[in-house]
Amino acid sequence: MTPADLEFDQRHIWHPYTSMTQPLPTYPVVSAQGVMLKLADGRQLVDGMSSWWAAIHGYNHPTLNQAAIEQIGQMSHVMFGGITHPPAIALARQLVAITPEALECVFLADSGSVAVEVALKMAMQYWQARGEKRQKMLTLRHGYHGDTFGAMAVCDPQNSMHSLYQGYLPQHLFAPAPQCRFDQPWDAADIAPFSALLAEHHRDIAAVILEPVVQGAGGMRIYHPEYLRQVRQLCDGYGILLIADEIATGFGRTGKLFACEHAGISPDILCVGKALTGGYMTLSATLTTRQVANTISNGEAGCFMHGPTFMGNPLACAVASASLSLLAENHWQQQVRAIEQQLTVELAPLRQHPAVADVRVLGAIGVVEMCQPVDMARLQQHFVAQGVWIRPFGKLIYLMPPYIISAKQLSQLTQAIAASLAEE
Ligand SMILES: *Cc1c(COP(=O)(O)O)cnc(C)c1O
Repeated sequence: MTPADLEFDQRHIWHPYTSMTQPLPTYPVVSAQGVMLKLADGRQLVDGMSSWWAAIHGYNHPTLNQAAIEQIGQMSHVMFGGITHPPAIALARQLVAITPEALECVFLADSGSVAVEVALKMAMQYWQARGEKRQKMLTLRHGYHGDTFGAMAVCDPQNSMHSLYQGYLPQHLFAPAPQCRFDQPWDAADIAPFSALLAEHHRDIAAVILEPVVQGAGGMRIYHPEYLRQVRQLCDGYGILLIADEIATGFGRTGKLFACEHAGISPDILCVGKALTGGYMTLSATLTTRQVANTISNGEAGCFMHGPTFMGNPLACAVASASLSLLAENHWQQQVRAIEQQLTVELAPLRQHPAVADVRVLGAIGVVEMCQPVDMARLQQHFVAQGVWIRPFGKLIYLMPPYIISAKQLSQLTQAIAASLAEE
């Protein structure tokens, strides 16, 4: 990669949430192996991000590579309308088997945001089929559900700048974010505002949508599972659907295979994505119950009105299926528990630092919340110089490494964070 390549990148390529006139620096990565990202200049970085929750088994995994190669030799893609194929069937079988029992109908979609769109549309079609026009969603502040319009409308209104799209975005209902922490005793008052909103608006509400236990991109907040349990009870009481967005939390990240298991609840609709393919390519799934699926199918449309071009992409399904098999064979519980213990021990001392507002850990997620927003470009440079890849945002410096990370590599990540605070 030449300087001209990087110049072209800066001039012509959008990066996530980045300005075209004042782009933040980008670091050229030419390959990745295990937990290491290799830069164009040969430097190796320990990956603390799993490429945004996705690369749980690490990069360039022989089993996942093999699955992709074998599938390419058969077919990369074929339309899903009127056609089915072994990788989709194998993957859907696995998803039905590992998710809560009531979830048995699988919609394969392109990305996390699309899985959320599909979930919202399912909820609306469900009520439409029952002869009710219900189009409001109830959700939590500080939530994040994706960047497409339907998904964005249920994201935190401030974080996702709803003001930009005023008059265009559907208006939904927002309960305050849960305050009671995962590790605190449950405070019954925490659910009161949510409960009050539901009591007032339940006739208009199609579904509640939330990220169970861990709110990811909207603030890396970790809340008490009892909150989720009570949401489930309240939804049941009013006959309202519960959509669990496990796109970030799914597949072991929080210490349970799905975060809903912390509360022992089952949603009516479940969204998964990100780690579904082990981080190899984009694929998501929205699962629902037989009852929801049947109700939709017996409604006016006679079907569920969605069907993307690349639905059920065989290549993505084959890799996802191999990734789920790896998860089943691997010792992810022990790996995630070991990461949790080490993060707890090594990040705890940072709490004493005057610039640090909070430290929190759950499963293979470690968060250091600063009192002030960080200087992202400067901090990123510091981390790369320390040989680690950590991408902070806002006030948050956080880690969610691949499950296969070694204790030594994990220490490199936590030490790099500690060193960055020492420089403050
Ligand atoms: C990342 C994320 C999404 C959106 O997924 P994309 O694949 O980026 O569209 C939705 N919900 C949650 C909870 C996420 O973390």
